[in-house]
Amino acid sequence: MTTDADVIIAGAGPAGSLAAYELAQHGVSVLILEKSQFPRYKVCGAGLTHKILKEIPFDVSPVFETRIHTFIFSSGFKNVFSRSSPDPMIYCTMRDKFDAFLLDKAISAGARIRYGEKVMEVQQDSSSVSVITRLGAFRTKLLIGADGASSAVARSAKLRENILPGLAWEAEIKVDASAVKTFSKTVFLDWGAFPGGYGWVFPKGDHFSIGVGGPANLSKWMLPYYRNFIAYLEAVSGVKVLETMSMKSWPIPVRIKKSRFHCERVLVAGDAAGLTDPLTGEGIYYAIRSGKLASAACYDYLLGKESSLESYSRAVNEELMNELLEANRIKYIFNTVPLKIHLFVRDSERAWRAFGKVLRGERWYADVRMGFGKWQFLWGVACKVSQYISDIREKRFLGKGFK
Ligand SMILES: Cc1cc2nc3c(=O)[nH]c(=O)nc-3n(C[C@H](O)[C@H](O)[C@H](O)COP(=O)(O)OP(=O)(O)OC[C@H]3O[C@@H](n4cnc5c(N)ncnc54)[C@H](O)[C@@H]3O)c2cc1C
Repeated sequence: MTTDADVIIAGAGPAGSLAAYELAQHGVSVLILEKSQFPRYKVCGAGLTHKILKEIPFDVSPVFETRIHTFIFSSGFKNVFSRSSPDPMIYCTMRDKFDAFLLDKAISAGARIRYGEKVMEVQQDSSSVSVITRLGAFRTKLLIGADGASSAVARSAKLRENILPGLAWEAEIKVDASAVKTFSKTVFLDWGAFPGGYGWVFPKGDHFSIGVGGPANLSKWMLPYYRNFIAYLEAVSGVKVLETMSMKSWPIPVRIKKSRFHCERVLVAGDAAGLTDPLTGEGIYYAIRSGKLASAACYDYLLGKESSLESYSRAVNEELMNELLEANRIKYIFNTVPLKIHLFVRDSERAWRAFGKVLRGERWYADVRMGFGKWQFLWGVACKVSQYISDIREKRFLGKGFK
């Protein structure tokens, strides 16, 4: 059988490029099919936590735009407070630069790329996969679908179940030069304004990325929230918004149950697999982790160490989904008592330290439950009750919004 590559990867975002990099490093022949030309704009806050950086096997500091030491928190634009750290808490980048940087590393390691190849459909037989693109067709032994939130691969391979749709709006916003300088180390974060909703300002080299996100069924309230967020920002900080350079909405797919992440010879990773944090909307960490797990499963399969790709679904469920399901439970608690948690972060040194440890990957959501020791069942009950209250609040908000 002749193939175009041992592994084809659809999509050159963080999931695709990290999978390609790892496979190429092991001498596997890899071809990436990417629908866009690179570098390409991607709507994203592009906040990089330390836990992301630990997962990338090379230095990405050349594409940092800013280093964040301070968070200014508000809860529905009220009870504003700030917290700082002497060391950077996160780093901000722009996704056109970051993604092109990761892709360059994959290409240098030996991966090939074809731009302008939009994957439309996937057909599998017992020994290979045909990948149909808008321009042609390719054949491969294995296919990794890393083609983002609206993944054609996941749809075609029927790997889209158990996904709750989230949505975010974000714009690149030009502000006065003094604001760029004053707030170059500061993130603004508003939460608790509506169930599951939040807004952020991430400072970039010469502008701000400003966005809001939440459950997709509340989407009609997101633009009003966005406008209120900008008004709050101008009032609280004196920042002058000069120009909205782009304004886009984008889905944030959230997997809410353990699932199958492979089907015969096809695997899905990153947003294509719905691996985003339901609490924060963060997905780069999960894209990179799942991309690496996908590459490991493909490598073992090609070497004959594994007879199927089952190990991939198992690893994603154990290593990533356990954590994401815990984040979902914490989201329900947060939605039930948002102000209490906001004030807890303000008043408790321990809570602030824990926040920093989560960003650094030194603490995990699952540690919250473990902290209850033999009383863990109480945590389970609290989460169930919170889910019930949170659902009621969401329905109520859907009807009357910010009135
Ligand atoms: C507004 C917003 C803000 C966010 N902020 C953050 C943040 O601050 N930190 C964080 O960690 N996460 C954030 N996220 C989530 C993050 O953007 C995603 O989780 C992450 O990009 C997922 O990476 P990926 O490689 O799976 O997919 P993507 O980054 O979406 O990459 C997919 C790639 O596939 C290509 N593609 C798509 N369809 C096809 C096709 N049919 N054929 C071929 N190629 C295709 C695309 O062009 C793209 O290059 C944010 C998301 C949004 C919407």
